[in-house]
Amino acid sequence: MKAAIYTRISDARDDDTAGVRRQEQDCRKLISDKDWDLVDVYCDNNKSATTGFRPEYRRLLEDVRAGEIDVLVAWASDRLYRRTTDLEELVTVLGSVQVVTVRSGDVDLSTADGKTVARLLGAIAQGEVEKRGERVARAARQRAEEGRFGGGTRRFGYTASMEALIEVEAAAIEWAYARILAGGSLREISREWEARGLVGPKGVVITPGVARTILLRPANAGLSVYKGEVVGKSTAPVIVDELTFRQARALLTDPRRRQSPDDGRRTLLSGVLDCGVCGAPVRAHNRSRQRNGKARTGYGCSKSRCVTRSRDRLDEAITELILEYLIKHRVLYRKAPRTASLAAQRASTEAETLRKRLADLAALAGAGELAPQDFAAAARVTRERLAEAESRVTRLAGTPATSRLIKSSDIREAWTTSSLRVRRAIVREVVESITLPVGTPGKFVMTGTTIQWRFRDRDVREDAA
Ligand SMILES: [Zn+2]
Repeated sequence: MKAAIYTRISDARDDDTAGVRRQEQDCRKLISDKDWDLVDVYCDNNKSATTGFRPEYRRLLEDVRAGEIDVLVAWASDRLYRRTTDLEELVTVLGSVQVVTVRSGDVDLSTADGKTVARLLGAIAQGEVEKRGERVARAARQRAEEGRFGGGTRRFGYTASMEALIEVEAAAIEWAYARILAGGSLREISREWEARGLVGPKGVVITPGVARTILLRPANAGLSVYKGEVVGKSTAPVIVDELTFRQARALLTDPRRRQSPDDGRRTLLSGVLDCGVCGAPVRAHNRSRQRNGKARTGYGCSKSRCVTRSRDRLDEAITELILEYLIKHRVLYRKAPRTASLAAQRASTEAETLRKRLADLAALAGAGELAPQDFAAAARVTRERLAEAESRVTRLAGTPATSRLIKSSDIREAWTTSSLRVRRAIVREVVESITLPVGTPGKFVMTGTTIQWRFRDRDVREDAA
C-alpha cells in the first residue's frame, strides 16, 4: 500500500513547526504499524483550512488523481477538511483512496457509511471553526473595550503600537480639526499636509478623502471603537478633545457636505431654510434658462414648491440681517460660545456616563447576571439616551467661524473677504432656522420671514446667573 501523509497546522506562530512535526511523527508511526510504504509527506504550515490557500494540499490532490497514492494518513480529519464543501471535493478526487486518521479513526470515502462519518466529522470541525471565530471576535471586542489597539496598519499621527504620538503628524491633525471647525475644506487640508511634507503610512500623498478618514478616527479623541460603536476610552495619547472631535465629525458627516463637495455649487442658505407652508426643507435649485440667457437660480420648498425665492435676493437680505444682528449683539455673541461650550461639556460628560453604563450592562449580561431580554430593554433605553446626549454635544458646539468674524474690527469687511464655505459656517452658527412664508408673485418681500437665532439673551443671562 502506497501511503501519503498530510499535515497542517493553522496557528503556528514564528514558523514554529513543532506542531506539524508532532502530527507527522504520529502519522509515521501509524504507517509503520500497518506496514505500509510511505510515498511522500505533504505539509501546509500556518494555513487555515477555512480561508487560507494550501499549496501542498493541492499537490496532494494532484498526486491522488495520478493514482500514486492508495491510502492517505492525517492526524485528524479536520486537518484535511473543515467545511463540508471541502469534503465533497475530497470524496470526488479520492474515490477509492482510503483515509486514515490518527485521532478520529478510519474514514472510508468509498462507502456510503464512510462518507456519512466523514460528513459528521466535518460538521464537528465546522462547529469548531465557528466557535474559534466567536472567540477571536470576543477578544477583539474586549481589546477595544479596554482601549487597547487592535493591530493593523500604523495610524497617521501615531506610532505603530499606538503608544506614542508622532509629533509633526499629530500637530497637523490638530490644525486640521481647527480648520474644519472654522469652515475649511478637506482639499485645503490635503494641500497643507502635502506642503508640510507629510505622507500617509504607506508613503503616498494624503488625498482629501483619506484626510477625512483620518479626521473621523475616534482614537484621535481618545475614544475606543469596535465595529463603529464607541465602547470606551482608548489608552492611546489624545490629539484633540472629544468635543472638538464630535463637532468636526458632525460637519464632515453632514449629508449636505457630501452632496455638494464643490464650493461653486453650494449655496449660502441651504440647510437652514424651512417652508412656512408645509414645514419641509427649502433647497436651492437651478431653474431653466431665461430669455436673457442667464440661468435663474432660486430656493424652493423641496416637497411641493409651495414657497420659492430668488436666490441672490434672499442671500443678500439674510446676509444683511445676520450682519446687523452680529454688530448689534457683538458683546452678547462673544459670550455665547462659552455658554454653548459649558452646556456641551455637560452633555459630553453625560454621554460618557451612559457609555460606561452600556459597558456595565454588557458585562452583567455576559456574566449571566442579567437575563438577555432585560439586557436588551435596558440597553435600548441607554442607547437612546446616549444618542440624544451625543447629538446635544454636536448641537451645542462652539462657534469658531463666528468668533473669528466678530474679532475683526470691521465685521462687514471681514464677511466680504470670507469664502462661501466660511460664510456658510457662520450662518449655521448664528441661525437655527429661517422660515419662509408664501411669497408674492413677481415681487421679493421679506415680510413674514422669521429667523430663529441660535442664541438668545436669555441663554446668556442664565449662564451668568
Ligand atoms: Zn412646502
